[in-house]
Amino acid sequence: MQFAAFADRAAELEAEPADLETVSLVAALLRDAGDDVGTVARFLQGRVFPGWDARTLDVGPALCYAALAKAAGPNVTADDVEERLADEGEIGAVAANLDLGGQQGLGAFGAGGDADAGSDGPTLAEVDAELRAVAAAEGDGSEDTKLATLFGLFSRVDDDEARYLARLVLGEMRLGVGEGTVRDAIAEAFAVDPELVADALQVSNDYGRVARIARDEGADGLRATSLTVGRPVQSMLAQAGTVTGALESWEAVAAEIKFDGARVQLHHHPDGIAPPDAEREPTPDDPTVRLYSRNTSEVTDALPEIVEFAEERLDAPAILDGEVVAVDDDGGPLPFQEVLRRFRRKHDVDRMREEVELELHAFDCLLDGRAGSDGTDLLEAPFRARHARLTELLPAAASEVLYADDAAEIEAFEAEALSAGHEGIMLKRPDSAYTPGDRGQDWLKRKPDVETLDCVVTGAEWGEGRRANEFGTFLLAVGADDGYETVGKVATGITDERLAELTDLLEPHVTREDGQTVEFRPEVVFEVGYEEIQASPTYGAGYALRFPRFVEVREDKDPADADTVERVERLANGDDESGGDD
Ligand code: AMP
Repeated sequence: MQFAAFADRAAELEAEPADLETVSLVAALLRDAGDDVGTVARFLQGRVFPGWDARTLDVGPALCYAALAKAAGPNVTADDVEERLADEGEIGAVAANLDLGGQQGLGAFGAGGDADAGSDGPTLAEVDAELRAVAAAEGDGSEDTKLATLFGLFSRVDDDEARYLARLVLGEMRLGVGEGTVRDAIAEAFAVDPELVADALQVSNDYGRVARIARDEGADGLRATSLTVGRPVQSMLAQAGTVTGALESWEAVAAEIKFDGARVQLHHHPDGIAPPDAEREPTPDDPTVRLYSRNTSEVTDALPEIVEFAEERLDAPAILDGEVVAVDDDGGPLPFQEVLRRFRRKHDVDRMREEVELELHAFDCLLDGRAGSDGTDLLEAPFRARHARLTELLPAAASEVLYADDAAEIEAFEAEALSAGHEGIMLKRPDSAYTPGDRGQDWLKRKPDVETLDCVVTGAEWGEGRRANEFGTFLLAVGADDGYETVGKVATGITDERLAELTDLLEPHVTREDGQTVEFRPEVVFEVGYEEIQASPTYGAGYALRFPRFVEVREDKDPADADTVERVERLANGDDESGGDD
């Protein structure tokens, strides 16, 4: 297909306001595209590479303007292009009005191409190949190479072609053709079920490949499309949610630590994994482990110890999902910023490796290629089964999972996670599939507390074992007409060190002691976060804080300034508008 023909169809699409027509127009274009069907499917979305391939053209606006100016002739500068852009609002219109066609022939010399090419414009395949060459230019002089290649292309195109070429170079096609449109158009063009197309897209992350498979192999081909080691899929994402909500919707909850690091998808193949731009089978010189970030860019070289860790332990092909965290000398987690110092690093990797130690926490298994295991692609398998595979494959890095149907058990798990320095917990539906790129309801990050309450501490329980000399759990109360009424107990969110301080602070106020339990004079105010408030006969206030968490001692507040039963009631009914006083 000529690029000019693609540009004509793109112009038609751009002029088409109705979504349904758009799908049919794209379907017709895909049917007419012949060998270029894959390229068309990507170009329509402003992509040169498939989703799993993180290569980019690495062409900033300035370089694009310079190439356009050069192709427009000696009287136009990159600044002129930028000025026109300010007037016309988008690069396609600017490119179309630059009259690049007048430079035909000249361009062919500039690009070192063949002298006839200018007369009939490039084919779609040529544009694709040239843009891939632009992406491949690296190191000293790469800017010049990119500029020369783009100049060569722009010199060979007429106005309409220039419009879409310029947009493609900057990755913004503005055709109103989104992922859903292309998906539906593939289904319509080749008469296959849209669900099958969607599934194949999820596992392959490659519109071009799926379009080709739909055309050449139909439904069976789409069904047979599976994950491939070396081609990362989108990460499954989480929504905010509550323990109570999860327990209401699911029969049980899989709770895990929420690691504060950077997402990583680990691909392993014992025969090696060829780089994305090598159109060849892997060789023994190719790495056996490659790592990808959450947006599927490759980060292998920045994380050598994770590579070594996996190389030593994995034998079979595998794709694992997890989080890389920075740890201190005792193995405790360090803040997320520390991981960032390592994650995308290209230089000084060895020096930084000395400074910031990294650890892998794997929490999912997408592909298990061990001989004898039934089915290697696990996306459809329930979380419980995927996690069991993970634990067999890489026990040293597999996350700990608590399967529970009891809120108290999850609360204790969270308390432990927080006191070990983690940022919180994740809740997963045990029988849920892995849905790449989906921010669905099956993974929840426990919502941070929306509100805090200032509560008076009216009692406590002594700890156990080595904590027998410290308070472990504190009884919380809020102001009532005559004194204070209890609303819950807090034991979560308090470090060991803090517990000792709180014991010293509260011990002088003990008024009664009965076995494990003590009562205090109302003197000390705790700021406490919580997940929600429920009506409850257990506490005097008639309400209970769910998942209360210690935030701070309010040294600045007297018990008289604490929150009241009235406010708790309003919060529970969702009609509190005061927002608290601070
Ligand atoms: P957020 O970035 O706040 O949207 O939280 C979701 C992110 O938490 C995921 O994308 C992961 O990078 C990260 N995460 C940490 N621990 C886990 C876990 N156990 N399961 C899933 N995601 C996790």
